[in-house]
Amino acid sequence: MSGGAASSGAPHTPPKVFSSCRAAVFRTNLFFSQPRNGTFFKPEISTLLTVSSRSFSREPWKDKKNSTKIKSTCGFQLSSDFGEESSDGDCIVVNFYRFVYIKDPEEEVAKHLSFLQGRDIHGRIYVNEQGINAQYSGPSKDALAYVNWLKEDDQFSDISVQISSAVSGHAFPRLKLRYKSSLVQLEGGISHLPLLDPAMRATPLPPSEWKKKLQAANNVDHSFSEEDGSDNIWKFLLLDVRNGYEWDVGHFHGAQRPDVDCFRSTSFGLSESEQVASDPLAGVDKDHTDVLMYCTGGIRCDVYSTILRQRGFRNLYTLQGGVSHYLKCEGPVEWVGNLFVFDSRLSMPPPAYKPEAVANGANGAELPSEKRTFASCYICGLRVHELRHRNCANLDCNLLFLSCSSCVEEFRGCCCLDCKSAPRLRPVLPGHQRYQKWHIYRDAVVQSKLLI
Ligand SMILES: [Zn+2]
Ligand SMILES: [Zn+2]
Repeated sequence: MSGGAASSGAPHTPPKVFSSCRAAVFRTNLFFSQPRNGTFFKPEISTLLTVSSRSFSREPWKDKKNSTKIKSTCGFQLSSDFGEESSDGDCIVVNFYRFVYIKDPEEEVAKHLSFLQGRDIHGRIYVNEQGINAQYSGPSKDALAYVNWLKEDDQFSDISVQISSAVSGHAFPRLKLRYKSSLVQLEGGISHLPLLDPAMRATPLPPSEWKKKLQAANNVDHSFSEEDGSDNIWKFLLLDVRNGYEWDVGHFHGAQRPDVDCFRSTSFGLSESEQVASDPLAGVDKDHTDVLMYCTGGIRCDVYSTILRQRGFRNLYTLQGGVSHYLKCEGPVEWVGNLFVFDSRLSMPPPAYKPEAVANGANGAELPSEKRTFASCYICGLRVHELRHRNCANLDCNLLFLSCSSCVEEFRGCCCLDCKSAPRLRPVLPGHQRYQKWHIYRDAVVQSKLLI
């Protein structure tokens, strides 16, 4: 990857090595426009999209319209009366996935396309022999009609659905519904994995049980270990099965940061030698270690745990419904920071999911300040307090990065000195906003020159 931040000449930039994966990810303005290279914003990963919005309000979760539209999904199944609380015209965002054998995926796709004919659904819905993975938005009438239709089919009847408000219009530009060979993007593919066998996946824990397990683990001294009554030391390991930059804005207390910036190239526990010092799964006792893993929506844990199961890990647990579901149900107990979301807000504070939890003091405020301000500025390395990425002001870079306020000012919203002197510069974005189309800034420059 050439140019931009990865090869920044910024004088006090801490030495960083970014994989090309990271560069590809971060250079895609995936939130606001058509991805230019699409490398990252593949829907397999965007299963993580659990709350979507096109609102640019600073605090959309305080928006009355929004808050009254979201019904708690702590039951995790689609509530049959959800539709009664949403007027038909308001867009909602729906996420679900299901690993199930589909004999003729092409025919399945055709059926879905036929059902959605004339319905206002935008999003990414992929089907193959291993099942279905869907994230879409639409007026609740149409969006829920699709879920209900799907549930009439036995193979999808117990599908778990997550619903949230889209606040303002569609969260996706159009509908893509097609066969796709891999429901989750992972190097080496996933079609060879026994994903259809629940016994090969991690045991899903409801949020309340997950919380108990974490609290038990975090309250035990000496790094998550306890006696199990025998000679063995029972250990706990908490893995964040997301992208590295997601961990950077928020994660469960005690979770290991992913070793790579893209989940698809994750390598924890996958090293053949098992001697990699930085791998938390290297050398662990596979019989006496509880490996707890979480991701935003759940599908990546299902895939990853299947791989670990094949490698002999016996005690695998995942957070049912992912982090967004947890925050809705339990509030931010044991959670540090914000939740990265794949929409224009980029990052959501826990109160967005469960406002009353903060009122009850479960907002992590008791954590020491270093735990609350754990993220670093990409440019200077100092702690940042605003846990929200921004796109580099250089249109041709567009890197998504965390920056402290003084670096935002000094670099005029750019990620490095090179970008600061680039030809297609946009102004510094004040606060939580998205960049508009380039011609708006270009024309503004032309106008100001004419005025002079
Ligand atoms: Zn800085
Ligand atoms: Zn840049």
